[in-house]
Amino acid sequence: MHTDGHTFKIFLKDLTIDGEQFQYYDVSIINEEKYALLPYSIRVLLESAVRNCDEFQVTSKDVKNILNWPETQKHEVEIPFLPSRVLLQDFTGVPAVVDFAAMRDAIQRLGGDPQKINPICPADLVIDHSIQVDVARRLIQLASKSQIILDSTKSQRLADSSNCPTDAYSNRLLPNRSFLPKRAHFVRQPFTPQQAFLQQNFRNHAQVLSNNRIQSNKSEYLNSYEINSNNQILIETVFEECPFHSIRTECAEALEKNQKLEFERNLERFQFLKWGANAFKNMLIVPPGSGIVHQVNLECLARVVFNTDHLLYPDSLVGTDSHTTMINGLGIVGWGVGGIEAEAVMLGQSISMVLPQVVGYKITGKLNDLCTSTDVVLTITKNLRQIGVVGKFVEFFGRGVTQLSIADRATIANMCPEYGATIGFFPADEKAIRYLVQTGRNNKSIRFIEEYLRATKMFRDYNDEKSDPIYSQVYELDLSTVKPCVSGPKRPQDKIFVKDLKTEFVKSLTNKVGFSGFGLKTEDVNREIKFVFENQEYNLRHGSVVIAAITSCTNTSNPSVMLAAGLLAKKASELGLKVKPYIKTSLSPGSGVVTEYLNKSGMLPALETLGFNIVGYGCMTCIGNSGPIPESVTEAIDKNDLIAVGILSGNRNFEGRIHPSTRANYLSSPPLVIAYAIAGRIDIDFETESLGFSEKTNQEVYLRDIWPTRQELQELETNYVIPEMFNKVYEKITVGSPQWANLTVPLTDLYPWNLESTYIKQPPFFEKMTADLSQVQPIKNARLLLYLGDSITTDHISPAGSIARNSPAAKYLLERGLAPRDFNSYGSRRGNDAVMSRGTFANIRLVNRLMGGQTGPKTIFFPKNQIMDVYDAADSYKRENIPIIVIAGKEYGSGSSRDWAAKGPWMLGVKAIIAESYERIHRSNLIGMGIIPFQFLNGESGESLNLNGTEKFSILIDDSLAVKQIVEVETDSGIKFKVLTRIDTNVELNYIKNGGILNYMIRKFL
Ligand code: SF4
Repeated sequence: MHTDGHTFKIFLKDLTIDGEQFQYYDVSIINEEKYALLPYSIRVLLESAVRNCDEFQVTSKDVKNILNWPETQKHEVEIPFLPSRVLLQDFTGVPAVVDFAAMRDAIQRLGGDPQKINPICPADLVIDHSIQVDVARRLIQLASKSQIILDSTKSQRLADSSNCPTDAYSNRLLPNRSFLPKRAHFVRQPFTPQQAFLQQNFRNHAQVLSNNRIQSNKSEYLNSYEINSNNQILIETVFEECPFHSIRTECAEALEKNQKLEFERNLERFQFLKWGANAFKNMLIVPPGSGIVHQVNLECLARVVFNTDHLLYPDSLVGTDSHTTMINGLGIVGWGVGGIEAEAVMLGQSISMVLPQVVGYKITGKLNDLCTSTDVVLTITKNLRQIGVVGKFVEFFGRGVTQLSIADRATIANMCPEYGATIGFFPADEKAIRYLVQTGRNNKSIRFIEEYLRATKMFRDYNDEKSDPIYSQVYELDLSTVKPCVSGPKRPQDKIFVKDLKTEFVKSLTNKVGFSGFGLKTEDVNREIKFVFENQEYNLRHGSVVIAAITSCTNTSNPSVMLAAGLLAKKASELGLKVKPYIKTSLSPGSGVVTEYLNKSGMLPALETLGFNIVGYGCMTCIGNSGPIPESVTEAIDKNDLIAVGILSGNRNFEGRIHPSTRANYLSSPPLVIAYAIAGRIDIDFETESLGFSEKTNQEVYLRDIWPTRQELQELETNYVIPEMFNKVYEKITVGSPQWANLTVPLTDLYPWNLESTYIKQPPFFEKMTADLSQVQPIKNARLLLYLGDSITTDHISPAGSIARNSPAAKYLLERGLAPRDFNSYGSRRGNDAVMSRGTFANIRLVNRLMGGQTGPKTIFFPKNQIMDVYDAADSYKRENIPIIVIAGKEYGSGSSRDWAAKGPWMLGVKAIIAESYERIHRSNLIGMGIIPFQFLNGESGESLNLNGTEKFSILIDDSLAVKQIVEVETDSGIKFKVLTRIDTNVELNYIKNGGILNYMIRKFL
């Protein structure tokens, strides 16, 4: 450890634990009086600034600003922050690993050593966002063994020994099921071996296997089949689902099937990530099937205190997922950021942030027996939403915190994005230490964690009011006022007491369309529809539950609510209560530990009896990967415009997120998910209406009869949530499933890009890069690509959703042999720059003034005065060597931080943006990509300067470009104006001169 010359070397102290010598920066003694006033979360920022102070990225002035937080927090002071690690999930992790792989190529091309490109700051990537609930519940046997003979030249099945009750020999199109048209397509085509392979699998398989993939893995697939001399393909297999009729069979093991499908859909991405796991140092990749990123973080990855070469310092992180905040429950400062910021941190760069205000949220009182931590978090979410905490830290304090377990605290911290704060922080205390013991952390770590936190006064005693710091504002919650509640039907902050839900739901049916209204006519409210499912008739009406999911790290990380669900299920099934078979029930734990304790405690069989089988380890229903619901159910809902209900233990329920057929979605605790599933409807008053009739006791069963007591749950947790389980599950954290283990990947330093892949592609970010810095050049005679207004969001700039069929991205994919059903979303294709650049500014709601107010991703290509897609216009400018810029209004780049919102314009060739103001993180992302953000001077705008957008613009910059420089812009129409260069620091100037942060790092390693 080199500390010579460190500005704060004098605060470096020794700490001896069990004879072992450690060191740490004792920030508590820099100024004891001021330090005592600092919120605990700010102490962590202070320590990071002190330790990382190099008088370049982090200066003594930054340290001073943080130490003077009570004053500086009022003035929007920017500070640098270097977290201890980075957390990634697979959606956002793939583009980050793609960039690292491309950097290795670049450094090799420039004569350097590719092995030098590794994350400097440790990065953990958990693959959890890809699995879907394709299959759920244990299902009846209709077809178990089939031999199918396919004619490889004709569109016919020749024989089928399946005992499938539907017409096994017919090639007619089958009833309108969402997946059947795809299947029918194959049925009608002559069978090829590849198609045969597609045929023998089930739901959605055809959708995800690209021809490219089959071609590239031909031998793997075709080895399983024999084509006889008559050109017939014989397939003998045990089907989990009749391959032609998609009828589910007894042997459908949801977990196994979903994991298999997950692999098949994501093979290219997984292979790439596994290559990354081998190729990069300092990067841990947690394979699919291990759990949900934030639960794995909490139970295993979190260090609480880092020990790097015997230097101790607080764990802190940024993650590329908004719910990274969950870790705040364990006393770790961390929040979600965009990809470029995460990559910058991985490369050892600081992120810039406004020193935040800290809202103190005092918790008092004791929780009522009928309440769960989910009720607490829904109450807090509503409360803090009303207060308004966007951009602030929230720190919890007060004696009531001692009532909350670490899992409870993590649940509350998890929903931080829903209440809008940057973090929802619980400083570590005795309970945090006990949690580390419970989750099997090693004794030595636990010792230095506690000693370090105590030594630096970061250890909290919630009972000691004298150690309360000062806060920007203070609010209070008495836990005894919390009542059982749910949130919905369309937003997480719309809390409704369970006792009021029936009335509120009924009201919402006729309320005008809005967050709590569906706008039905009064005469339609009592509509009831009969439908048939598995040969039996059922009724559906408004309020019928069709999805019930125990999902999301928010709750699955919390043994008390998971055991409550198990115990409630046990009591219900013992009384003979059931869940109607058409309801799609699922249980997707956030880690294998949940399975362990549910199993050992005997709760799992009861959950399975009610249909809550384990369907996979990942985000699943929480992120909207709910999979299909039975066709007869969707048909009944759609035809009759029913307000069907999803009930889930997740954290977001915006319209369309959970399932297109569930217009009302309620967030609740896991035991309530089961209760509503048993009831089969949301408009039930649990006080007065029974869940069902028990033939065993000959009595009606009310929710209160089966609700677990706190004592029962405590006993279960003490007996069954034990360190051995965590050790057992996490000792194999990098091993993964046999599929992952069998995934062969090249053991190379450089990634062998597959030119056929439409998911993973080498980006051209460094194609033209040279080892030497080139001079900053003026931007001459640039054309305006887009003339935008206020509040252009990152979603306008780089949409994440579906790829329109007539878009340039669609054209690209069609040219590569993909059918529209295989397009997937922009979000899933972030590893392919060709798709993402074509998707830049492709939002259908984009308003470009050049188009006279017409909405859509179109613009004018001025040299030919031709209307084009934005991508095509940019491409044409590129061909003609004409630089392009964008003009925008206020708050350019608002919305969630998204790396492709900066990468995309770079790909289009945008040299500069001139806006009235910028969203803070997006501005730094533009700098990260080497795009200069200019700002109109105060009071000026494109309109006020009478720019009509047809002008040619010249921005007069050169190598003397400096921080916050005022530069002149000239136009060919004679209008001249000045703009402020929004390069705010010397570090940023360095990035711009290098053409972006990644280029800067490559040169640094050369
Ligand atoms: S389970 Fe939900 S909250 Fe947790 S990481 Fe996945 S999508 Fe985010």
